[in-house]
Amino acid sequence: MKTIILLGGPGAGKGTIAEGIRTVSPFLHVSTGDMLREAVKNATGVGRQAEGYMKRGELVPDDVIVGIVEERLAQGSPDAAYMFDGFPRTLEQARLLDKTLEKHASRVNYVFLLEAGRDLLISRLTGRRVCRSCGQGYHVINIPPKRDGICDVCGGELYQRADDSEATILNRLDVYTKQTESLISYYEAKGVLVRVDSSRARQETVADVLRVAGSLVQP
Ligand code: AMP
Repeated sequence: MKTIILLGGPGAGKGTIAEGIRTVSPFLHVSTGDMLREAVKNATGVGRQAEGYMKRGELVPDDVIVGIVEERLAQGSPDAAYMFDGFPRTLEQARLLDKTLEKHASRVNYVFLLEAGRDLLISRLTGRRVCRSCGQGYHVINIPPKRDGICDVCGGELYQRADDSEATILNRLDVYTKQTESLISYYEAKGVLVRVDSSRARQETVADVLRVAGSLVQP
């Protein structure tokens, strides 16, 4: 099993970069945010537990998150290469991930810290739109759809995530600083942290990540 992690504040481009990597490499994209949104949509037990936290821009409790991640890993093949997006977000989650990987005689191979300035993060989030049907991401200015409010890929309706409102965005940035930023030194100490400038065009950031991580999935 191989594991890479995309780390960075809300709006740093974790989902966008993961999508770019997924289309050109065999990494399996595991987004805890996407899994939770799906659970909320389907009103599952996990969804009901998570919904309030997500609306407020707070973190969902560690036991819920680790539960869904372990379930996901148990479904995959032992040779799979995972790319986590939005997980781990606390030291506790990082330690539990290490323990889970140890059970598979594995460890985190690389953590890519996607770095971009605060103003850019905010403008990316406020302008973000997502297709309700296929999940394709857009931005009202940077990546506009051809027809207003309509997905270029599947014709689905574009919407703004409930937690992309200005007030919730500021809270999410705060939560990142207080609860997630400590992961930078945790992974730096392990010698697996790689800093990437994610204020550039998506393909440049994707290329930087693959220059380092590509060898993990070479036949
Ligand atoms: P994201 O799509 O990664 O921005 O996640 C959206 C929301 O889901 C976050 O603001 C949290 O409320 C929740 N969430 C996603 N991943 C995690 C995680 N690893 N730990 C706790 N909460 C999470």
